[in-house]
Amino acid sequence: MIRPEAEIILEISNLHAGVEDQKILNGVNLQVRAGEIHAVMGRNGSGKSTLSKVLAGHPAYKVISGEVTFRGKNLLEFEPEERARIGVFLGFQYPVEIPGVSNLEFLRVSSNARRIHKGAEELDTFEFEDLVKEKLALVKMDPAFLDRSVNESFSGGEKKRNEILQMALLEPVLSILDETDSGLDIDALRIVASGVNQMASSENAILLITHYQRLLNEITPDFVHVMSEGKIVRTGNKELALQLEQSGYEWLDLADNNQNKKK
Ligand code: ADP
Ligand code: MG
Repeated sequence: MIRPEAEIILEISNLHAGVEDQKILNGVNLQVRAGEIHAVMGRNGSGKSTLSKVLAGHPAYKVISGEVTFRGKNLLEFEPEERARIGVFLGFQYPVEIPGVSNLEFLRVSSNARRIHKGAEELDTFEFEDLVKEKLALVKMDPAFLDRSVNESFSGGEKKRNEILQMALLEPVLSILDETDSGLDIDALRIVASGVNQMASSENAILLITHYQRLLNEITPDFVHVMSEGKIVRTGNKELALQLEQSGYEWLDLADNNQNKKK
């Protein structure tokens, strides 16, 4: 839902970043307001996951220059766990397994950290179990997954649903979902998408990173951006995603070449 007067949740200005000595992001600009769903598409290797990791504060990824603000504050000054507490959520392309850590306890501790930040009461194990059961229904997950270690031996689809469960519990202001659709069959995709759709509100914003159009059949983006070589090279509405699906990313290069010829 686009409302020009809505609060600016995320503002990225001329962001350059990399990992080790490799420069990957080459001047990303993006503005996201409350209530908006943005899709970031692009070929493999275009820098989509790097952007999400920089926003989440992954320690291996270094900002070279540029600015990122979250609700007007310099996001880059916050430690990764502070970013989570203030409401930035990253759903990983490859969720990590944490053997020996109970999923329920992990969800409770992270959810309580976020609740304290918001000035809400911490929940004890019993109260939390009630809340988590309500949210489990959103992603059609079996409660048995709560007693297992975080993501350990979960299938690809189960890991992604667990990420969405985490998101539902944390109630983030900005959710960055990196290739949440990869590795999902169509039923799992619909479950994940319906979970995200139910969580989307005028108070929060969602950045969907995806290589394919099919997730965007289930979640309608307000804006579609195309990344190439570490930059957003095109912005449009949901039609742009359909065009990419039909004509592939080469179509963009051709369109760009034609534009250059005209100049
Ligand atoms: P995407 O998510 O769009 O497929 P990535 O952000 O994962 O792209 O990767 C962009 C480029 O940066 C790729 O060439 C990739 O190999 C490189 N890259 C990403 N992370 C690392 C890393 N940790 N070490 C070395 N190179 C990396
Ligand atoms: Mg990626």
